[in-house]
Amino acid sequence: MKIGILGGGQLAGLLAQEIKQTEDTLIVLDPGEKCPASLMGARQVIGSPVSEQDIRIFAKQVDVLTVELENINTEALIKLAAEGVSIVPFPETLASIKDKLLQKHCFFEAGIPTCEYFSEKQKSVDSLKELGWPLVQKSRTGGYDGRGVLIIRDESSRLDLLPEPTYFEAFVPDAIELAVMVARNKEGDETTWEPTLLEFDRNQNILKTLYSPPILTKTILSQAKQISIEAVRALGGIGLFGVELFLTKDERLLINEVAPRAHNSGHHTIESSETSQFLQQYNVLRSKPLSPTRSTCAAVMFNLLGEPGFEGKTVIEGMDAIDKFQNVFVHLYQKFHCSPYRKMGHITVTGETLSIAKELAEEIRSLVSVRGENQI
Ligand code: ADP
Repeated sequence: MKIGILGGGQLAGLLAQEIKQTEDTLIVLDPGEKCPASLMGARQVIGSPVSEQDIRIFAKQVDVLTVELENINTEALIKLAAEGVSIVPFPETLASIKDKLLQKHCFFEAGIPTCEYFSEKQKSVDSLKELGWPLVQKSRTGGYDGRGVLIIRDESSRLDLLPEPTYFEAFVPDAIELAVMVARNKEGDETTWEPTLLEFDRNQNILKTLYSPPILTKTILSQAKQISIEAVRALGGIGLFGVELFLTKDERLLINEVAPRAHNSGHHTIESSETSQFLQQYNVLRSKPLSPTRSTCAAVMFNLLGEPGFEGKTVIEGMDAIDKFQNVFVHLYQKFHCSPYRKMGHITVTGETLSIAKELAEEIRSLVSVRGENQI
């Protein structure tokens, strides 16, 4: 069977590595010659994952179509689905997720806890006061890794810095950020993995490190899984989903957002679960039964981000030094060009307990670096 994916970055690449072990093939639609996924085991068709014409030609070559990004041409996918192309998740789900304000409405209507919000039409300063300061302004579409998210400190702040349509939500102070991966198939079977705790680079809003399972009560962990499943159900979600949540100081769980695809917060499942997020994604795409997702050990995953101050041909340092360590799993995304904070790979460190994994992860982190060859 030929599985097609719109986008050929590392998420498609990691899926390709899983599919390589089956009788099936992953084909990616990506405009860049030798995209990361193609170097990680996928076949590539050169083309734009947002051009209706390119998607149409691509869809003819595959048996089922999925996505590795959310900023996609959902209108084209809705037409293709009506013409009989098999698309997972459903394009209607992709459309509700692509627009963060529609996502919010969907959670609100389903009674799923999320932070309070206003649409842009209500943006008179008086109405915004109701949410309290600071508040958060977000682009409805196209944001990622914090691009399209602004903190509005007080009423003197400008509200016109994001050029595209936006909405506003209440700022959640001192939140712990969690994520739960959810897989759901057409039969309505559902699996989750243990929640992960996410640590971000605050200036760049990029995931730095994740911890699994986090040191939180069993009640919170099971509630996080439950509301994540409910969020995916509310979106009519079939496929694999990354659900991001806030745990507030008074221990309430709020859904932040859902991604309709494999997610950085699930990378550790390759080594620390009976079934990885990518194998489960394949199961759903292939209409196979979902596999058990029991976690087999604790894990810390950190992203290999391009070092600030350098750009150019990728230079990776320190790999020899970590060869001798057990329980350390390096994934490189084969990107030729490295720029500051670009996601170049990730390393998962497993352990019997989280503190063992944490200690080793810190040592490993100090040994490796990825950067561009030129100083900027
Ligand atoms: P993106 O899709 O770009 O990752 P998010 O909505 O996840 O955008 O926001 C990026 C980051 O901004 C979050 O990980 C969180 O740290 C912070 N953030 C977003 N919304 C809020 C909020 N309502 N309150 C506090 N922090 C927020």
